[in-house]
Amino acid sequence: MKGKIEKSDAQWRKELAPEVYRVTREKGTEFAFSGRYWASKEPGAYLCAACGEELFRSGDKYDSGSGWPSFSAPADAAAVAEKPDQSHGMIRTEVVCSRCDSHLGHVFPDGPPETGLRYCINSAALDFQEQD
Ligand code: FE
Repeated sequence: MKGKIEKSDAQWRKELAPEVYRVTREKGTEFAFSGRYWASKEPGAYLCAACGEELFRSGDKYDSGSGWPSFSAPADAAAVAEKPDQSHGMIRTEVVCSRCDSHLGHVFPDGPPETGLRYCINSAALDFQEQD
């Protein structure tokens, strides 16, 4: 990972599209089956929509049926960080970008056998980079 990115809320608000800002900086959630990437199967990498860090890879993406892009693992263990989240009356584990601290989604212990993990990520927090 390259150096940490820290920007003021005003800077993020200016730089990011409204929906990207709402999800990544305000911990928003897009509606299921509404995002750009939940059904995507093309080979490539999924970068942080706020800072460009590579977060997930198509090889770890699977169809969870949830309507959100789902991955069994991050591109690199250091790419994402986890935080306890007790909002909305639930106990969940939030997943953020290690580099810029953007909210990405949550990780649940009901993933496929290899890792048993389901990284449930908002499309709005990702930018897909097709493999050459
Ligand atoms: Fe980031």
